[in-house]
Amino acid sequence: MRYAWSMTERILPLTSTMQDEHLSLATLLRHATTWYADAAEVATWTPEKTTRMSFGQLGVEAAKLANALTSLGVTPGDRVGTFQWNNNEHMTAYVAIPAMGSVLHTLNIRLFPNQVTFIANHAEDRVIIADGSLIPQLNAALGGMTTVRHIVIVDGDTGAVEAPAGVEVHDYRQLVDAQSGEYDWPEIDERAAAAACYTSGTTGDPKGVMYSHRSIWLHSTAVCASYGLAMGPSDTVLPIVPMFHAMSWGTPFGALMSGASLILPDRYLQPEPMTRLLAEEKPTMSAAVPAVWIGIVNHLETHPQDISHLRHIACGGSAVPLSLAKTLQEKHGVQMVQAWGMTETSPLASIAWPPRGVDGDEAWRYRNTQGRFLPGVQGRLVDDLGQTVPADGVSQGEVQVRGPWITGSYYSPEGAEPVGADKFEDGWLRTGDIGKLTEDGYVTLVDRSKDVIKSGGEWISSVELENEVMAHPAVLEAVAIGVPDPKWDERPLVAVVLQPGRTVTVAELREHLSGKFAKWQIPDTWSFIAEVPKTSVGKFDKKVLRAQHADGRLDVRTD
Ligand code: ADP
Repeated sequence: MRYAWSMTERILPLTSTMQDEHLSLATLLRHATTWYADAAEVATWTPEKTTRMSFGQLGVEAAKLANALTSLGVTPGDRVGTFQWNNNEHMTAYVAIPAMGSVLHTLNIRLFPNQVTFIANHAEDRVIIADGSLIPQLNAALGGMTTVRHIVIVDGDTGAVEAPAGVEVHDYRQLVDAQSGEYDWPEIDERAAAAACYTSGTTGDPKGVMYSHRSIWLHSTAVCASYGLAMGPSDTVLPIVPMFHAMSWGTPFGALMSGASLILPDRYLQPEPMTRLLAEEKPTMSAAVPAVWIGIVNHLETHPQDISHLRHIACGGSAVPLSLAKTLQEKHGVQMVQAWGMTETSPLASIAWPPRGVDGDEAWRYRNTQGRFLPGVQGRLVDDLGQTVPADGVSQGEVQVRGPWITGSYYSPEGAEPVGADKFEDGWLRTGDIGKLTEDGYVTLVDRSKDVIKSGGEWISSVELENEVMAHPAVLEAVAIGVPDPKWDERPLVAVVLQPGRTVTVAELREHLSGKFAKWQIPDTWSFIAEVPKTSVGKFDKKVLRAQHADGRLDVRTD
């Protein structure tokens, strides 16, 4: 039975007796460093060695970094950029900067230099902490930065930084080791900005989201909960999703909250070192985009290894191919759980744990969705006419969300023109994702609105096409785009990367899809490519593929 829920405006009839302690990241740091001082750790894995730091040491390092930043003139509210891999020093910045009341601004190291410059200027970063191995990328972006006054280099040659006049360069260890390991952390209003992250610009100019202490705290509770990413004090978590991308899905703060240990892979994200890390550290949980696990699973084909120490892997950022989740489950005994979210949603918004009491194919049907909304996320689907569409598992609309860890606007510096106002409607965030919703709250994404393939006025879901093509045993990766067609407006084209040593014909692929799609939905044009172009955060880059097609650079075949 369904209940027709409705709600009035906010009211405050009688004040409660509860303490008004604000949910700040300083309190999370206190909790983690006090009660898990020796029970949990953060570690950086490299092929040479693993560098471990207990949560107790993390507290000392964070205090030293806060003192160091204060000595550089950083005050509460100032933005401090990070240009780093997932490692101990990045984790130290993650906790020290917000806990001192400043704003941790994670810069995406894989963006074009002019985008990094744009983002650092837009956020008005004063200091950037950068990894020594990234100095060339930093140099390419540094020239145009107008607000940065200090660069702090972790493990690298400070002399190699091409600092413009007025910018001082420091060595991280020298700067930090000269400081006291104690710091008077401030009590912070929970509504204050704690961290900033810019969308990776898959759709237009990067736009900034400023998370508050409160939003991160509440989001962390969902990250840890068993209905969320399920992290606890007996876990060792391997966040492969970069700390510069959507806060590594909240895993660093989730670790502080739950006392889980973190094993961080630094720059070693390729399948070979990753499988060595898995063998040596035996993490119990991981988080990454599908492309990473496609690579690892493929590597395991020729280099078998037991990875059943992984209780589960959270996967999202783009649609998780069912074939990938099935291989992990059936061959490796590892549950891959699909999550959905975006930079604007902290990012965790929904996750696909199947309901109680289902198994077999029915469970897979649930697991193949983007999941149920989390308690901090209210969701609805809205059609082109602005009408809410029913949760009947069939009707489609744009997914719109609201809640305490959903951004209410994009960041604009004072006095600047607001950006992205069209992405909000009556207090709801318009995600740009098209989906359908079942009565029991599972959302299935059909496409991003700009990726929808519209053939003869009807939609073809690129996500469904990709999923089915990737289920063919000869296919490693597949990406579907709409290409212009004089008769139908648009027709689907699927670009395919083959499994090493395998071949397949277009006719066989079409045959594989028949019965699963209507005839008119089955692509006539295909392309065999060596590699799918990826965005800075490892998603299929359809923009690049469309441009390659438009310029005639794609070898298109119909048989
Ligand atoms: P960008 O917008 O720059 O790509 P985000 O990482 O914030 O950066 O991307 C969020 C988008 O990623 C979502 O709006 C959605 O289109 C896509 N996405 C995230 N998780 C999933 C998922 N499980 N399945 C399909 N698409 C997903």
